[in-house]
Amino acid sequence: MPRSSKPQDDSGKHRDDSAAIHPETEVLRRGYDPRLSVGSVRPPVFRSSTFVFSSPEAAERSFSIALGKLKAAPDEDTELIYARLSHPNAEILEDQIVPLDRGATAAAVFNTGMAAIGTVLFSLCRPGSGIIHTVPVYGGTHHLLYEMLVPWGINPVAVPAGDGPALERAIRETSNLQVVLLETPANPTLRMTDIAAAVQAASTRTTPARIVVDNTFLGPVFQHPLALGADLCVYSATKYLAGFSDMLGGVVTARDPELIVQLKSTRALLGNILQADECWLLDSRLPTVSLRMNHQSNNAAQIAEALSDHPKVERIHYPLFFDEPDQQRIFAAQCDHPGAVFSLELVGGKKAAFDFLRNLEITQNAVSLGGLESLACHPATTTHSEMSTEELTLAGVCDGLVRVSVGLEDVRDLLRDYSRALDAI
Ligand SMILES: *Cc1c(COP(=O)(O)O)cnc(C)c1O
Repeated sequence: MPRSSKPQDDSGKHRDDSAAIHPETEVLRRGYDPRLSVGSVRPPVFRSSTFVFSSPEAAERSFSIALGKLKAAPDEDTELIYARLSHPNAEILEDQIVPLDRGATAAAVFNTGMAAIGTVLFSLCRPGSGIIHTVPVYGGTHHLLYEMLVPWGINPVAVPAGDGPALERAIRETSNLQVVLLETPANPTLRMTDIAAAVQAASTRTTPARIVVDNTFLGPVFQHPLALGADLCVYSATKYLAGFSDMLGGVVTARDPELIVQLKSTRALLGNILQADECWLLDSRLPTVSLRMNHQSNNAAQIAEALSDHPKVERIHYPLFFDEPDQQRIFAAQCDHPGAVFSLELVGGKKAAFDFLRNLEITQNAVSLGGLESLACHPATTTHSEMSTEELTLAGVCDGLVRVSVGLEDVRDLLRDYSRALDAI
C-alpha cells in the first residue's frame, strides 16, 4: 500500500536542487511495497470490487472516516471498503504521481480528464457560485460550463487568455467567486496566462477563491502551478501522462490534502475513479513522462525553427516565437521548456490547411495530443467547431490554422514530411 513522503522537486530551469531525492527517482521508489505482493517488482492488478475487513471494528472505523464522521489520524492506513471509493491500484498511482508535480501533497485519479474537471467544479461550486475561466478553453470544459452548470445556477465569466488586467478585474469584481480556472497555455494558440498574478489577485479577496490550472499541455514536467500558489492542477492523463494514445485518464493534484479528500468524496458518489487495469497502465508510464516530454519538446522546437521562414507559413504559434513582451515574460517566468504542440497559420486559409493535412505521410490527421506518434488537426472545423465565427476570430483560431502534436519519430523524417507537405500545397 502507499507510503507517503514529502513532495520533491522536478527537472528544468526552475529546478529546486535542495531536495535529497529527485522526482524521476522518487516515482520509481514510492507507492508500492513488493513485500506485500510476494516480492513482485511491479505491482499486481487488484481487480476486486470489495475488500475483507480485519475486524468489525476496523469496518466501523473505515466507514466513519469515509462518511466524514471521523478524521483519520495523520499516518493512519484505513482499511479499503469498496472499489468505487478507492482501490489499491488507485492508491499506488496517486502516491506515485505526487513527486512529479512540484508542490503537490496529494492526488486523485479519475477515468478521464473531463471527469477530473467535472468533479472539481461539482465539488467546489453551488448554485450562485461564480467561475472565472480563460478563453479559448477545452471544448468539453466549455460545454460543461455553459450547457450543464449554467442551468444549475452557476455563473461562468470568460476572460481572454493572457489578458492580465481583465483577469485581475474579474477576480476583484466577480461575486461569490469560487473557482478561477486557467488553461495555460491555451489551445491551439498557446497564449499563456500568468498563474502567479492570478494567485496574487485572488489573495486580496475577502472570501477565498480556488485557483485551478488545467496543466495538460506542459505539466507535470515543464510547468508547476502548485509551486506558484495554485490550489489544484488538473490533467487529462490521456495526453502526456499516459503518452501512448491507448487509454483515457484524469488526475488532480493539490497543495492541501483536504481538497483531495473533498474531491474523493464526490468521486465516490459519481463512480468516476480510474479503474484498476487503467491505473496499472498509467503508473507504468509515469517514470518516462519526463524523458518523453523533453524529447518531444526538442523535436517540436527544431521543427518550428525550421518551418518558421517557409513561404507557406504565415505565422507559428509557439512559445519560442512569442512576439508580445508580456507573453515572453510569462513564458520565461512560468515554463521550463516550450512543449511539443505548435500551430501553423498557413497562407491560403482552409484549403491550404486541408491540403497540408492530406499531404502529410508520417503525421496522422487526428485530434488529441501528447502521444508518441505525431498528430495534426484543423481546430476550426474539429476541436473548436462549437465556437462562433466571432469567438474563433477573438481566440485567434483562423481558417488556415493547423495544430500539430509532435511525437517521438526521428526529427529528420518529420522535417522532411512537413517541408514536402507544405511545398505541395
Ligand atoms: C484532452 C483535454 C481535456 C479532456 O481530457 P479527456 O481525458 O479527453 O477527458 C481537458 N483539457 C485539455 C487541455 C485537454 O487537452
